[in-house]
Amino acid sequence: MTTVWTQARRAARMNPSIIREILKVTEKPGLLSMAGGLPSADTFPVDALKAACDRVLTNNPRESLQYAASEGFGPLREWVAARVATLGMAVSPDQVLITSGSQQGLDLVGKILCDAGAPVAVETPTYLGALQAFTPFEPLFASLASDDEGPRPEAIRALPHDAPGTRFSYLLPNYQNPTGRVMSAQRRAAVVEASRQAGVPLLEDNPYGDLWFDEPPPAALSSLWPEGSLYLGSFSKVLTPGFRLGYLVAPPALYPKLLQAKQAADLHTPGFNQRVVYEVIRDGFLDRHVPTIRALYKANRDAMAAALREHLPAGCEWRSPLGGMFFWVRLPAGLDAMALLPRAVDAGIAYVPGAAFYAQQPDARTLRLSFVTLTPDLIREGVATLGRLLREALETADEHAP
Ligand code: PMP
Repeated sequence: MTTVWTQARRAARMNPSIIREILKVTEKPGLLSMAGGLPSADTFPVDALKAACDRVLTNNPRESLQYAASEGFGPLREWVAARVATLGMAVSPDQVLITSGSQQGLDLVGKILCDAGAPVAVETPTYLGALQAFTPFEPLFASLASDDEGPRPEAIRALPHDAPGTRFSYLLPNYQNPTGRVMSAQRRAAVVEASRQAGVPLLEDNPYGDLWFDEPPPAALSSLWPEGSLYLGSFSKVLTPGFRLGYLVAPPALYPKLLQAKQAADLHTPGFNQRVVYEVIRDGFLDRHVPTIRALYKANRDAMAAALREHLPAGCEWRSPLGGMFFWVRLPAGLDAMALLPRAVDAGIAYVPGAAFYAQQPDARTLRLSFVTLTPDLIREGVATLGRLLREALETADEHAP
């Protein structure tokens, strides 16, 4: 039936949004939620934003409230080019596209690079929002074998490149959502070399790179292969997600297509938001502000690490993340994090079952815990409850189950 309904059927094949369903459950008032992927609202620089809004409306009312360029606000694009230079990327402001959050960047890349039935490679597990962004374009997801340092180079070398070739690999080198892992400099070099050999370009997503606790992460993947890389950055985790500001850095060959897609999507990211954020950050504000976020998150990371050591039963596995917002926990055999969630919510806590983050065969024993939206005391309480729940569940679990 190739009728008016063809496109509607295509939309209907999209995955249901499991995560939204889960997050609905976890919005119960009073719940100690370790489920959210949100930054701590305590870190939002309210006074600086308020003053900047006022300055922008006083000094540039007409320009800031008018339609604006699809590429983004010029001075902000220059700022981004200078910022990514600190990650080893030598790019011109002409390669910077300001987006409505980095989530929009994922959608734009999906629009211009994904084709129905053509492979897109993702880490195992990967950011659920990227799976959601690419899915409407019906790619074939290739789930890259991955370890504690991210995707394995041999998995990239083995990607299909007969027609239709693998369109790109979606990679998260810094404090990955959901696992918290970081790629070493050596792994980065190997992954880029494998991508180059396989002829598979990469999309690097880096919303958490500034949130390191002891030392900054190695140089960006995009710095190692500029002509084969797209790079996504975001103001959501270092300033506020409320202004919906992100950026996409693209090689000159791809930029015009992305710009066209951006124009079609929303003409431009709100000019007012761009000017306000630029007004806040133009004088080096982030260099003073981000260290306060790191200190807060590191103290919370330490609290959660200690609580997990104290309360989780033997057989649970996790690693203390070196930055970002998440712990990734693997439960002992016989436990299923999705099946346990309703009991967790009844007991007053929430987490995200890890199964949501897999493009293919999910690992039902995994779960993601955020450590940034609760205080250390509440983290201890939440993890103690989780520990109790897991012990009870283990008493009745079938350890021969997968
Ligand atoms: N990529 C990753 C890995 C994320 O975790 C998020 C937000 N949770 C995004 C992109 C989207 O962020 P934003 O649109 O707010 O920039």
